[in-house]
Amino acid sequence: MGDMNKLIAPSDTALAAPVVERVETVLVDLPTIRPHKLSVATMNGQTLMLVRITCSDGVTGVGEGTTIGGLAYGGESPESMRLAIDRYVAPLLIGQDATRVQALMARVGSMVKENRFSKSAVETALLDAHGKRLGLPVSELLGGRRRDRLPVAWTLASGDTGRDIDEAERMLDLRRHRIFKLKIGARPLSDDIAHVAAIKRALGERGAVRVDVNMAWSEADAARGMAALADAGCELVEQPVAQASALGRLVRRFPLALMADESLTGPDSAFEIARVHGADVFAVKLEQSGGAFAALRVAAIADAAGIGLYGGTMLEGAVGTIVSAHAFATFAQLQWGTELFGPLLLTEEILREPLDYSDFHLTVPTGPGLGIALDEDRVAAFARDGFDRKRG
Ligand SMILES: [Mg+2]
Repeated sequence: MGDMNKLIAPSDTALAAPVVERVETVLVDLPTIRPHKLSVATMNGQTLMLVRITCSDGVTGVGEGTTIGGLAYGGESPESMRLAIDRYVAPLLIGQDATRVQALMARVGSMVKENRFSKSAVETALLDAHGKRLGLPVSELLGGRRRDRLPVAWTLASGDTGRDIDEAERMLDLRRHRIFKLKIGARPLSDDIAHVAAIKRALGERGAVRVDVNMAWSEADAARGMAALADAGCELVEQPVAQASALGRLVRRFPLALMADESLTGPDSAFEIARVHGADVFAVKLEQSGGAFAALRVAAIADAAGIGLYGGTMLEGAVGTIVSAHAFATFAQLQWGTELFGPLLLTEEILREPLDYSDFHLTVPTGPGLGIALDEDRVAAFARDGFDRKRG
């Protein structure tokens, strides 16, 4: 550990730079507006792991980690993120130059393997703080935004066809969403296809329909399913099978796009999928990638390989959603829009000013840092137990 403290060599200017003073984490349990059914889990609530970093110049930043269905999606849970940050990441940050975000994350990366979601949360908090310090939005720290508004898809996942159609019609009326993603894979294939076809029939040209199988199908199911989905007017299928090699055998065999999600876990896997032409589209997620900078590298690989880009979500609350929006706003290509609807799935607002979802888009904030402010009373009201402080 002693040598690691020298990883960032203190120069004369660095000695005067603000340092990380305090790292705090909290788990916030929020209910969802309806059960959210995936092939891997049914969610009735979402747990946000929030991390707050306070620096010696008085600037604070906030970050967020979430998962889908506890440990149903991947190796990290909100509880394990909190433990990893409190016990292992915080000591690596405290006392270090808070203005060197990439160097600081490299220091964390050298001592903490995997734990991509935890690292994404910490990097977000450092970026938020540094943006506030410089008076710049996080999108500018990430290379500069190319767009101020992002198209946002909505996921229909009530499990009931009629209810899903009603929900889609309501979203079209509200002008909030016109791209709809259906969660399938838990029921027999023929039931799922009938469900998708009925929804596409009801919406017609007014709404795009895509599906996410969350790896539930065998390769043979996927071949049958993708042919039927294309016939039903579905334009894209997301991660029908688990194995990247099987994705590669399915791609471009059917007239609908194939998107990699779960098998995309950062730049290394992005390169491997691109190398074997294993997908038409990447669902880029900041947490899955290991943070905003890693997500930018995934996007660069996709661009170079001619793979389309889609801004994915881990059903984050407002903090995780907005750092993703800042990153996606900088992408050279964003052919398939985003699904940054996470905060809309929650019944409780934790921001002082809610995010702007209107005219089928989410507006990327323009204020310094993330450009959002937590309502601390609301956060405290839903905190499982208080902020756990790690002081230097
Ligand atoms: Mg997915």
